[in-house]
Amino acid sequence: MIIGVPKEIKNHEYRVGLVPSSVRELTRLGHIVNIETNAGAGIDLTDAEFAAAGANIVASANELFSKSEMIVKVKEPLASERALLKPEHVLFTYLHLAPDLLQTEDLIKSRATCIAYETVTDKNGTLPLLSPMSEVAGRMAIQAGAMALEKSWGGRGLLLAGVPGVAPAKVLVIGGGKVGQNAIKIAIGMGANVTVLDKNINTLEKLDQQYANTLTTLYSNAENLEQEVIRADLVIAAVLLPGAAAPKLISKALLKKMKPGAVIVDVAIDQGGCCETSHATTHDDPIYIVDNIVHYCVANMPGAVARTATFALNHATLPYVIKLAELGAVEAMRQDPGLLAGLNVFNGQITNEQVAIGQQKPW
Ligand code: NAD
Repeated sequence: MIIGVPKEIKNHEYRVGLVPSSVRELTRLGHIVNIETNAGAGIDLTDAEFAAAGANIVASANELFSKSEMIVKVKEPLASERALLKPEHVLFTYLHLAPDLLQTEDLIKSRATCIAYETVTDKNGTLPLLSPMSEVAGRMAIQAGAMALEKSWGGRGLLLAGVPGVAPAKVLVIGGGKVGQNAIKIAIGMGANVTVLDKNINTLEKLDQQYANTLTTLYSNAENLEQEVIRADLVIAAVLLPGAAAPKLISKALLKKMKPGAVIVDVAIDQGGCCETSHATTHDDPIYIVDNIVHYCVANMPGAVARTATFALNHATLPYVIKLAELGAVEAMRQDPGLLAGLNVFNGQITNEQVAIGQQKPW
């Protein structure tokens, strides 16, 4: 198959659809890989490295789309890229179509086969192409929170680890899933005093076995949540209700009871956020303060560590790219129902129920 990887054109997006080692795997199997010039330049992956792995370097997105059968990307195609899609194309990337009517209409018009990373499932029903980004965001959440606790950002002026004779900061992680587990690992590693709240007892059991006395696990009910939010110096909000908006667990009234200078890193902001006062921010301006509480609410946290995120994403996507290239999209999806779950638009029709429902909502 002829595979094309364009340079991402979304503002501040430096990730790239394939890294040179993935190109090497594909060319070794006899596939042709076209890479747009400078596609990896933002994360120090040069055209020369891609060429050494067997890729053809092409000069423009126009040329790339016209010469390739499958387009492998990171972010959803913007309007100028959507205009280049043809019915013969397979598009494999994050799409997040449910709230995006314009993009959905363009993909329907293109009649291309559009497979979204975020709805591909594995045998356990989990989302293998979302989880590497949750791992990155969870680990980053503690870095971001530690920074925001510094006085210059409006924080309490606390060092997460404390020092001998001075207590460490209290970190509360709400939601012990992929983001939460990774945040816990880093927070404990940095020497913080860590508590996790979750509604799933199995999750709490596993975390308790893993961390024993270094982690406090608590069932997430209104009373525990309120007490722990008030005690916390740093709150990591990492709840997910699949397919739904994040629940507003920290109300405006509860926020007023928190310690001045405490920090909330609302990782769930991409689903609307867990805090009534949260609104999405960007890496250019990540932090704002409400009622003396520092809010960090960046909706695409992994974008800041684009090199790490690109490699993590590639490790998860490559087996699927190979399957699509070896078998062709239709046969690959016929053989793998989890990959079929990734199909969002096919032959001018929406093929994913959540996306179709999303189009009806007044986002
Ligand atoms: P996950 O499904 O692995 O974990 C979510 C956890 O929340 C589960 O363990 C679940 O039991 C728990 N939960 C549900 N309701 C709860 C409640 N009321 N109280 C406490 N816990 C509750 O999901 P994840 O991959 O960890 O993702 C978490 C959130 O982070 C999602 O909204 C995801 O979209 C978001 N995310 C954001 C970024 C970013 O850049 N901002 C990056 C990756 C993921």
